[in-house]
Amino acid sequence: MAVDASNALLHWYAVDKRRLPWRAEAEERPDPYRVWLSEVMLQQTTVAAVRPYFEKFTARWPTVEALAAAPEADVMAAWAGLGYYARARNLIASARELARRGAFPTGAAELRKLPGIGDYTAAAIAAIAFGEQVAAVDTNIARVIARLHGLQHPSKTQVESLARAMIPTGRSADFTQAMMDHGATICRPKSPQCGRCPVRPHCAAFASGTPEAFPAPKQRRARPHKHGVAYWIERCGSVWLVRRPIKGLLGGMAALPGPGWVDAAPPGLNAIGTVRHVFTHFSLDLHLVPRAEPEGDGWWQPLGSLAEAGLPTLYRRAAELVAAARQAA
Ligand code: SF4
Repeated sequence: MAVDASNALLHWYAVDKRRLPWRAEAEERPDPYRVWLSEVMLQQTTVAAVRPYFEKFTARWPTVEALAAAPEADVMAAWAGLGYYARARNLIASARELARRGAFPTGAAELRKLPGIGDYTAAAIAAIAFGEQVAAVDTNIARVIARLHGLQHPSKTQVESLARAMIPTGRSADFTQAMMDHGATICRPKSPQCGRCPVRPHCAAFASGTPEAFPAPKQRRARPHKHGVAYWIERCGSVWLVRRPIKGLLGGMAALPGPGWVDAAPPGLNAIGTVRHVFTHFSLDLHLVPRAEPEGDGWWQPLGSLAEAGLPTLYRRAAELVAAARQAA
């Protein structure tokens, strides 16, 4: 089954693959820098969100050496809005390490030692950029494997082993990307497109009549809720910004000043408004409070160039809320 299913998948991929800016064309050697950059950006992030950031980064820093030489604040500002900011800090650290070495490691085990590279990302880079016969298993690919084999509760090891058995010799790059495309566009979590699926004849979940029931859904824990206060301090057409501590959420990013986030709403706030933002592990109400005097180490950012400050989405939305409140007044 593995060989037939893999061949069917590769035939489908040759015709229907997604055209993505980080992918090499047929006959072209993949550029490890572009593969690495795209895989880091794609961690927990959609292709649609990544595409403009990837194009911006590669236009500005076309090689890993160029990225390694960039000031950290410039890279963080260019990353603003893409989320999961630890990735940007790890990206800079990895770029500097790679530039120092003079080459990318070519195997998943060595790639895994770079900052911010987990098992999946290391395997994906090794397979796509260097053709290593290694299984890269993310949520999409795990779902396809579980469905093909009709597994309700497969372990990570089981899925990896089944995926590895499907890789045709010498085709790991195409196979990995074919699985990614198939999981994202055909074998979707809800409403899998079995009618146009190239591996349908080999699929146990399809044969069961309820393909979307595989794998069994995981229990989700309730997301806690927090409250934060951000100070809007404006003077002569500029707003006071600070840089968040390097360690922790939104680490190293430009921000509005304010105290740490807490579980209960602070009493007696005279807020301009509130921004609700959902992080992976909790949701946040950020209450925007006007203040007169600067708070903490920071700088005056002209309101006319706020877009260039590199504010992450939470604080960009807070600034938009102030602008909207002003227009409504
Ligand atoms: S037949 Fe349906 S469930 Fe099976 S792999 Fe294809 S899309 Fe997924």
